[in-house]
Amino acid sequence: MKKRKSNLKGLENRELKSKIEKYSKLLKSVGLEPKKRLGQTFLVDDGVVVDQITAANLDKNDIVLEIGPGLGILTNKLAECARKVIAIEKDKKLYNYLKGEVPGNVELIHDDALALDFPEFDKLVSNIPYQISSPLIFKLLNYQFTLAIIMVQLEFANRLGAIPNTKDYSRLTVMTSYHYNVDLLNVVSKESFYPTPKVNSQIIRLIPKTLKRTAKNEQLFNTLIQVLFSERRKMIKNSILDQHFKFNIAKSELKEILSSLSNLDQRPEQLSLEQLIEFADELHLTLVRILY
Ligand code: SAH
Repeated sequence: MKKRKSNLKGLENRELKSKIEKYSKLLKSVGLEPKKRLGQTFLVDDGVVVDQITAANLDKNDIVLEIGPGLGILTNKLAECARKVIAIEKDKKLYNYLKGEVPGNVELIHDDALALDFPEFDKLVSNIPYQISSPLIFKLLNYQFTLAIIMVQLEFANRLGAIPNTKDYSRLTVMTSYHYNVDLLNVVSKESFYPTPKVNSQIIRLIPKTLKRTAKNEQLFNTLIQVLFSERRKMIKNSILDQHFKFNIAKSELKEILSSLSNLDQRPEQLSLEQLIEFADELHLTLVRILY
C-alpha cells in the first residue's frame, strides 16, 4: 500500500514535470519571458482546473468573466461548460496568442482589468495576478453576480477568512464579509504553477449574501470602515476625530455627537462585522437627530 502511494506520487511528479516542460516550451514559442510585474505564473495542473470548474457549478446559460487568462488553461474548460466567457488579458503577446487558440464563445479583451468597466457577467472564475487581489475584490463590490471562484495567495485567503483580534482582520475582511459569504476551498501547492512562485495558493468562493444585515446608511458605513481600519489599533474615538473631514463634519460638532455613543474606547480590530454595523447605525441615527 505504502509503495503504491509513493509510486503514485512519483507519477504525479513526472506528470507535472512534463507539463512544466510543455508550458515552458509554449512560452518560448509565444516569445514570452514570464513577467513578475504581471504576476505571470501559469497553472500547469489540470486537476486544479477540474476543482475550480466543479466549484463554479457552471451551466450553459452562464456568462463567465475571467481576469488574466494567460495561456488559457482555465479559459478553454470554462468555454466548454458556459454560454460565453469574457476574458480580460493585459499582456499583448498573450492576448495575440489566445486569439488563435480559444473557441468562438470566448470574447477576448486586451486591457487592464482594473481600468475598464466590466461587462455584465454571472460568474467570475479566475486565477488572477496576485498583486491585483485586493483592488479587484474592492472593484467587485460594485458589480452584481451570482458567484466568484478565485485563486489567491494563501496569505490573502487568510485575510479574507480572518476573525476579530487577529493580525489578518482588516478592512478587506470586513467589506468582503459584509457583501459575501466567503468560503476558503482547496489549498493549491506552489508546485502546480510555472514558474514556481514562492508561496502557496488557495481557491476561494464568494457568494453574494441575499439576506444580509445592511447598514442604515451604507455610504457612511463604507467611510467609517475605511477610517477605522486605516489605524485599526487606535481607539475608535480618536480615529474618527482625527479624520473628521472624511465625514464632512467639524471636529467640535463630531465630538459632541460621539459623546452619546458607546464602544468608543474599543479598537476596530476587536469588533465583529455585526458590531461595526451597529456602531455605524448608531452614528447615523445620532447624526440625523443632531444635524437635521
Ligand atoms: N490564469 C492563467 C494565468 C495566471 S498568471 C493561469 O491560470 O495559468 C496572471 C495573468 O494575468 C497573466 O496572464 C497576466 O498577463 C495577466 N494580468 C496581469 N495583470 C493584469 C491586469 N491588470 N488585467 C488583466 N490581466 C492581467
